[in-house]
Amino acid sequence: MATFHDIIGQEQIKEHLQNAISAKKISHAYIINGEKSSGKEFIARVFAMTLQCEKGGTEPCQECHSCKQALSDNQPDIIYVSHEKPNTISVDDIRAQINNDIAIKPYSSPYKIYIMNEAEKMTPQAQNAILKTLEEPPSYVVFILAKPLAYIPFEYACCRRSSAVAWY
Ligand SMILES: [Zn+2]
Repeated sequence: MATFHDIIGQEQIKEHLQNAISAKKISHAYIINGEKSSGKEFIARVFAMTLQCEKGGTEPCQECHSCKQALSDNQPDIIYVSHEKPNTISVDDIRAQINNDIAIKPYSSPYKIYIMNEAEKMTPQAQNAILKTLEEPPSYVVFILAKPLAYIPFEYACCRRSSAVAWY
C-alpha cells in the first residue's frame, strides 16, 4: 500500500499536498526537503499516485489502472529521473529524460510527473536545464524533487526564476 495515511509524521506536508489536490491548485514543481530515511521519496511517490489516480480523491485508491501501474513502477506518466554516474545528475541526464521528453503529452493521465530523488546531486548545468523548463512548463507537467534540507542553492534559483514552485 502507498497512501498518505501510511506516511508517519510529516503532518504539515501531507496536509499541504492533500489541500492542493482537493483545491485543484497544483504547482509545476514541488521540492520536498528531508533528511535521509525521512520518507521524502515515499511522499513523492504517494503524491504522484494521487495526482494520477482515476478516482480523483485525496488518497490514491490503489485499485484503478493508474494506481496499479504506479505500484509496480509502470505508470508511463510517472517518470523517475535516473542518472548514469552514481554521485552526479548531469545535464545529459536531464536533457535525455526531461527536456527532450517534456513536450510529449501524457499517455493517459492528467499529468506528466517527473520525480527526482537526490536532487542535490544535480550539477549546476543540470539545475539550469531543469530551471529552463520551469520558466514555461507545459500545463500538464509536475516536478517533484526530493533533497536534504541542507542543500539550498537550487531553491533560491527556483524562486528567482519561477513562481510555479512550492517547497516543504
Ligand atoms: Zn487510483
